[in-house]
Order: sequence, then structure tokens, then C-alpha cells
Amino acid sequence: MARANAAYYATHDPFADFTTSPEITQVFGEVLGLWAAVTWEAMGRPDPVLLVECGPGRGTLMADALRAVGRAAPAFRVALRLHLVETSPRLRAEQARLLPGATWHEGLDALPPGPMLLLANEFLDALPIRQFVWREDGWMERFVAEGQLVEAAADFPLSLRERAGVREPPGPALAQDSTGPALSLESSVLAAPLIPALSRGERVQEVCEGALSIAAGLAERIARDGGAALFLDYGSVDSAPGDSLQALRAGKPADPLAAPGEADLTAHVDFAALARAAGAARVHGPVPQGPFLARLGLFQRTGRLARTQPPAKAAALVQAAQRLAEPDRMGRLFKVLAIAHPALPVPAGFEP
Ligand code: SAH
Repeated sequence: MARANAAYYATHDPFADFTTSPEITQVFGEVLGLWAAVTWEAMGRPDPVLLVECGPGRGTLMADALRAVGRAAPAFRVALRLHLVETSPRLRAEQARLLPGATWHEGLDALPPGPMLLLANEFLDALPIRQFVWREDGWMERFVAEGQLVEAAADFPLSLRERAGVREPPGPALAQDSTGPALSLESSVLAAPLIPALSRGERVQEVCEGALSIAAGLAERIARDGGAALFLDYGSVDSAPGDSLQALRAGKPADPLAAPGEADLTAHVDFAALARAAGAARVHGPVPQGPFLARLGLFQRTGRLARTQPPAKAAALVQAAQRLAEPDRMGRLFKVLAIAHPALPVPAGFEP
């Protein structure tokens, strides 16, 4: 999945295959920009402050955010230094057109130190997952090797098995080399209880090590340097087991295992596991996206903007806001989670 997605984002226009919230309405990026401004106030207005976006896509969210911040919070606009984490050269070029003056990084580790506000929409779902399947004699890992779907005995260490509540004795050891690469989980990730939801009754469990190590690393950094990070993505509040790998090709569901690099591969984000991994800082949420955006003023801002537009455009703006917030559209499946410095008050949108 890692190689397939790297190839996909490097060579395709992902937005031909799917639409994301910032592409649906400009108000999405605007209210997130104001969220960052309000959080910056609560941090005591550090200057300079890093404003970071992970996986900025076309740069739309950040362009909308900066425009709103420039009008409503000019002091924050002056204090912020824009840093973008993006691996796709093609998307970096698109982002550079909308966001001149940004600094790009391959990963979060490359960011300079200091207080930070971070936004990430539909970023974690693009990170590769590992899929484990329960079989008669133990957990197997399922993966693609040379175009074939294969399974090999899951080789996560015993301590992890114990933490995960897996009581069964490990299955017969399979030769590592015959069926696939040796499996080992990063030691930094191992520190977090990774697979708590493993249970006999469920057949498939997914783990996104990349997302977990990002959450753990960010939590440590935020606890040390101050700030907050906001993740918006689709997924479950519980570590619900199950196969969520899906592919979109030309806007239509496709076989995730066919034509690697040609389709956008995503998996549901396990917010419960993220929250556990971020234990070094304070975690707020996850809350459903609908009420979160409503609390940030999605509908008020949409209404104000709509009044300045011709009727057809005004109606489209209202419909776009509804699409993001209504429970049977994106309002419930999408969740929002914040990782914040423990001294900060509850961030906007997470009030009980
Ligand atoms: N946030 C944007 C785009 C979402 S698509 C929006 O809401 O419209 C996912 C984005 O993450 C793309 O920009 C993709 O190139 C980027 N991405 C995927 N894997 C990445 C990785 N490992 N590191 C950094 N960026 C990545």
C-alpha cells in the first residue's frame, strides 16, 4: 500500500478520483484557519509560531485558512510560519502556486522546533496500513507480494500479543523467507498498545503504524514545545476490527489489490488507537465532524457569504455546508481529534 500510494500521488491528480471537504466549500478552510487563530490566542500568542499542514493536496484548505486569518486575526497572520508536509512533487508544485513562501518537508521529523499549530484533513487515511487476519492457528498478516495476495504468520512480538489480549499460543512458526518479508513493528510504535481490539470473534484487524508513530511523536513534541494538532478524517471512534481498505479509481470504487498506483487507496482511521498513542499530550475528541464544524460557525459564515452571492451560488454554498455536516453525509463518518498541550483549555469545537 505504501508503494502503491506513493506512485499514485506522484503521478495522478487525486482530485479526479475523489473530492475532499476543502474542495467542497471554501468555508471549511476558513473555519479551520480561525480555529488555529483562536488556539494561538489561548497559547499566549507565541511569535513566531509554526502553522503546519500535513498532506495539503491542492493547497485549497490552507489558502482559504490564510485568507480568513488575514482578515480576522492579522497578528496571527504575521506571526505564523507556514510549513507543509508533502511527499508528492506534483502536489508540491500545485501547493506552491497557492501558497508562496511555504517551506516543504518530507516528514514531520524535519520540522523546526517551537510552538506549532497543525492541520491535517484526510491525511492519515492515505498512510499505509497492515492487515491481520485471524485463522485457526493464530494471526496472519495479509499483504501483496509480486501481485499476489498472500498471508504469513503475524510476527508481532509476544509482549505486544499479551498487551493485545491475545491469549492463544502463537501458531506454528512459518518460515519468514518463503512467504514474505520479515515482519517487525517499529520500536517507537511498540511502546504504544497497538492492537487492543484483537479478539477471536473478529476476523480482520488493521494497524496503521505510520499514523500511530505520527500521533506519538507529535504528542511528545507538543508537550515539550507547546501547541495543538487537529486531525479530520473518516473512521471509527472505537478500534472496530474489520477490513476497511478501499480504492477509488476515476471516482468509482475499485479493487484495492488491482492496478497498484492507479487508484487511491485509503483505510478507515482508528481514532481510539491514535488517542492512546498520543498519551504524552492531551487528546480532545474524537467528535463527529458535523457538530464540530457547526460549533466553529460553518453555517453562520456560509450564510454571510451566501448573502453576497447570486441565488444559484448562494444555494450551492448552503448545500455544500450541509454535505459536510449532515449525519448521513460526511457529518458523522468523519471525526475530528485534537492533540494539545495539557495546559491549553479545551480547544474550540470540542466543548462538552
Ligand atoms: N488534505 C487535502 C488532501 C488529501 S489527499 C484535502 O483535504 O484536500 C492526501 C494528501 O496527503 C495528498 O496531498 C498526498 O500527496 C499526501 N500524502 C500521502 N501520503 C503522504 C505521506 N506519507 N507523507 C506526506 N504526505 C502524504
